[in-house]
Amino acid sequence: LTLLIMGSYAHAQKKKKMKQQEPIETRIEQLLQKMTLEEKVGQMNQYNGFWDVTGPAPEGGSAALKYEHLKKGWVGSMLTVRGVKEVKAVQKIAVEETRLGIPLIIGFDVIHGYKTLSPIPLAEAASWDMEAIKKSAQVAAGEASASGINWTFGPNVDVSRDARWGRVMEGAGEDAFLGSKVAEARVKGFQGETKEDLGLPNTIAACAKHFAAYGFVEAGKEYNLVDIGMPTLYNLVLPPFEAAKNAGVRTFMNSFNTLNGVPATGSKFLQRDILKGKWNFDGFVITDWASIREMINWGFAEDGTEASLKAVEAGADMDMESHLYVYELAKLVWEGKVDEKLIDDAVRRILRVKFELGLFDDPYRYCDEKREQKVIGSKENREAVLDMAKKSIVLLKNDKQLLPLPKTGKRIALIGALAADKTSPLGSWRIASDDETAVSVLEGMQQYTGNRLVYEKGADVTIGSVSFIQEVQINTTDKSSFEAAKKTAQESDIVVMVLGEHGFQTGEARSRTELGLPGVQQELLEEVYKVNPNIVLVLNNGRPLALPWAAKHIPAIVEAWQLGTETGNAVAQVLYGDYNPSGKLPMSFPRNVGQCPIYYNYYATGRPIDKDNNVFWTHYSDVEKTPLWSFGHGLSYTTFEYSEITLDKESYKKGEPVKASVTVKNTGNYDGKEVVQLYVRDVVASLTRPVKELKDFQMISLNKGESKTVEFVLTEKELGFYNSEGEFIVESGKFQIFIGTSSSDTKNSVFHLY
Ligand code: BGC
Repeated sequence: LTLLIMGSYAHAQKKKKMKQQEPIETRIEQLLQKMTLEEKVGQMNQYNGFWDVTGPAPEGGSAALKYEHLKKGWVGSMLTVRGVKEVKAVQKIAVEETRLGIPLIIGFDVIHGYKTLSPIPLAEAASWDMEAIKKSAQVAAGEASASGINWTFGPNVDVSRDARWGRVMEGAGEDAFLGSKVAEARVKGFQGETKEDLGLPNTIAACAKHFAAYGFVEAGKEYNLVDIGMPTLYNLVLPPFEAAKNAGVRTFMNSFNTLNGVPATGSKFLQRDILKGKWNFDGFVITDWASIREMINWGFAEDGTEASLKAVEAGADMDMESHLYVYELAKLVWEGKVDEKLIDDAVRRILRVKFELGLFDDPYRYCDEKREQKVIGSKENREAVLDMAKKSIVLLKNDKQLLPLPKTGKRIALIGALAADKTSPLGSWRIASDDETAVSVLEGMQQYTGNRLVYEKGADVTIGSVSFIQEVQINTTDKSSFEAAKKTAQESDIVVMVLGEHGFQTGEARSRTELGLPGVQQELLEEVYKVNPNIVLVLNNGRPLALPWAAKHIPAIVEAWQLGTETGNAVAQVLYGDYNPSGKLPMSFPRNVGQCPIYYNYYATGRPIDKDNNVFWTHYSDVEKTPLWSFGHGLSYTTFEYSEITLDKESYKKGEPVKASVTVKNTGNYDGKEVVQLYVRDVVASLTRPVKELKDFQMISLNKGESKTVEFVLTEKELGFYNSEGEFIVESGKFQIFIGTSSSDTKNSVFHLY
């Protein structure tokens, strides 16, 4: 009998093993065969977390309905369920109580970390350090996966040129090339290097969003229309999405906006023709929150039935919280209005990702409470986000060599409400982490200066507390702490002022028409300056700000964004010179709001003012034509000198590599890192081309006195562009190549392509 049992056990194990070895595509087909139409549609339905597992099952209302659907197998995914306990509970229902036991895929907005927070994504992009960005995404994936999550709604790869748009904090800035590199790094960080890595328990599926063009909402107005030409779409908007696809991203999220009249969620052109057609994407598309339903409000669909029809035809595979597919799709198929093949296609895609994640092999693989305890907030994770935070800081100005700060002998005043704030530095989009968990700048600096550091708030940024959902933030007008701040400043040698936006003043639904310092902070700055002009201004913000007065008067300015959990330590290490800053701006900073959108890769016009330096009549007559700080700008405590550019030839045959080099020397007193940037201009083309476009960059480390020659190789990929039909073309003619320390460097060389 024992032998018999052992035999059948071995047989079962072998069978199981054999089953596991079957290719995913076969397993998908086998499962699909067994599914009813309702079960298929169920896979296309995603609900927001609705059930507190510590309480009884929900009774009545939408929660009870969702609960019923879950038990029937009509839910394929849930979002914002957090923690192993919660995930286990919902997964158990899906796996053990439904007819086919198909596991849920659990999504979450892991945007810049889960509990241990990295800098906001815009800040990370300022590092131009792809290894660090990848590592940061790995940390986020490690913590989220330890908490039961297996899919993040990131990276946001929306290129945006408009600082008024609140969501610029989530992206990588204004440039498609940098944006593409960052997209690739983040996808690989979340998912791993290869498709197989997705099956590891510490990786999660990524999601490139928002497909497409959300970053171009008119005048930065949230949830608005996008009206752009095809060259802009192909050359600026789509490349980071394609880079994410090429890096293996398993899901895309469509978008709230319309694109030239068609809501992105209902756009066949975007989802079927480009994404699933031209790019051959075989993962799935999730809608943005209720964006199928929003098509009714856009006036693009009569009702929920038509909205569902249009969305499914367009290629939106999973409905996030519109509550429409689950009711409409089966009916549409039965009525012959939707071909079941479309449903099958969507379900295959969703199941594919679930199989790749290993959810069918072990639906509880992300539900390890011990790992959850061990991984979240670990020392190693804190070190990684600290490293990322230091690399994200940009030194905007350092006249009078006020920085680095002396570690001894001087009295330092620290002023500004954000200096002591432990919540704001966490930034927007950090739903899993608790308030007050950041190291404040005050705490960071105290480690260096002890009792020679005197703190005064000076002025609040907002009235009361702000939160993710609060509609309008009210800026304070209270100046009652000004005098105390001024007195402290007067009695000190150096004043460090930490000013800017609260972490929740950027992000979704946080577009703004003012880009100065909120509240009375500008006045505070000017008042303090009157009594002590030796000010180091540390900016906390999630978007470019317009600070012309500060740029003119304040000797030292440090862009410290919102740097996450380790903010204070990172800022202190940079201010005291234990870390030499090397960040570069990923977005241009305007002089005033009227300049927005302002960006480095603008176009020539028919009215040159200084043709050699690409200055054209395109701007305004009441403000300088340049940005306050341009894309790619960022200083170091040391100085770098660039040689002339050397090209290996004067003219090249199409397809031949163009080799350009430059020698960079560290001419200052510190060892440092520099991001050497290469820009190209196609001088005459069949479409007007930007005055310059970033095409490559390299980060180099140079010790004091050291020089290095940096070589770049350009191929057709860097010299061509997309025409209005979306074809990539390379045209012969004259090209200009710029290599320098920022996009405003004018040193260039010319070559011809024939
Ligand atoms: C946002 C998405 C996000 C989703 C789920 C939407 O409002 O636009 O970016 O992933 O909510 O939280």
